[in-house]
Amino acid sequence: MIFTNQVVRILNVNFSILLMLCFSCMSLSCFLLDSKDLENLPLKSSKGKILFPEKIIIEQSFNSKIQIKKIKIRYSISDSTVVNYGYPVITYSDVVDTKYIINTSGNDFLPSGVVINYYYEITDMENNVTVTESNELEYLDDIYDWERIIGDGLEILHHGLSQDKATILHRNILERINPIKKTFLKNSDLFEIKGVLFDSRKESSEAFQYLSDTTTKQHLFGGFAYSDYNLFLVSGYNVDVIVHEVTHLILAEAMQSRKVLLPKWLNEGLAMYYQSNSNDWKGESKNFVRRTQIMTLNKMNTLPGKAYDVGLFYRKSENIVGYLVYRYGIEKIALLIENLKNQGNFDSNFYKTYGITTQELEKDWAESILSK
Ligand SMILES: [Zn+2]
Repeated sequence: MIFTNQVVRILNVNFSILLMLCFSCMSLSCFLLDSKDLENLPLKSSKGKILFPEKIIIEQSFNSKIQIKKIKIRYSISDSTVVNYGYPVITYSDVVDTKYIINTSGNDFLPSGVVINYYYEITDMENNVTVTESNELEYLDDIYDWERIIGDGLEILHHGLSQDKATILHRNILERINPIKKTFLKNSDLFEIKGVLFDSRKESSEAFQYLSDTTTKQHLFGGFAYSDYNLFLVSGYNVDVIVHEVTHLILAEAMQSRKVLLPKWLNEGLAMYYQSNSNDWKGESKNFVRRTQIMTLNKMNTLPGKAYDVGLFYRKSENIVGYLVYRYGIEKIALLIENLKNQGNFDSNFYKTYGITTQELEKDWAESILSK
């Protein structure tokens, strides 16, 4: 997540766990079911309606020649392996009409750009189960005419740029993110990212996740990354902001199921490092080092609660990562992540990789600035 005020500060909260909790989880076992010939139950019509940003309504009618006992809808969201299910409301007339609602706001928030892949399991009175073919629905605010640029593992959706400008933006993003992908991912060509760009603050404030009155009113957030869906949302067309969010997606992909072990200071520090596209750790003030002495790295595994401290948190994270890269090289961070992905906790892997503790790193960083 990227958060902006006059001095452009960044904030990241991982909502993926929250999102996972919002859905019931079922394994994809439907293909083992005994399927009857679909001709017994031809689809009459299928319609997805988006009431942005509140909900998605999926309506499907069947020409039923058989008496139906129950209808279950199963759906997955973008690249997520979680398969959700529910029971649509059924109305019988000369056909069987079904209607199913997926809420997309509040605790059920879904980011713009996700693709809902859904199908039905229909059980008749004799307990025969028919599995329909799957349909896809892309969740976007359909009052806009969305344009899409796809290529080299990056898909960008927008509606506010000319074709030429969008093509240049797409190319500029790739130039910046390809080296990051190569540094952290073994099969970097296989990793595909999708991003939705909003044309105005007003538009993005509707599309972004509701966090609190204060953050919404202050328009603090410039972008979010959703690693479960390999998807980012950004307000505007700033390449730096996009690179920040994509860095989070790449790091999450590199860490796979161990991503919670990556401390926030390193995750945000790297996103800031690539966002800045330069390394100015030496430019940090002695005063800042003294002011943030009590905010030690071992307290920076998560974000601080106070807005003022959040600004300091990002600045310190960026600066220490800048120092780490300057002193040991970026490849060493890639090695740390590789080690961390396999076993052990962060501290033991940090020591194994660098031969120093994070306390020693912090001491070295502070002394390097204070002795300028
Ligand atoms: Zn961030």
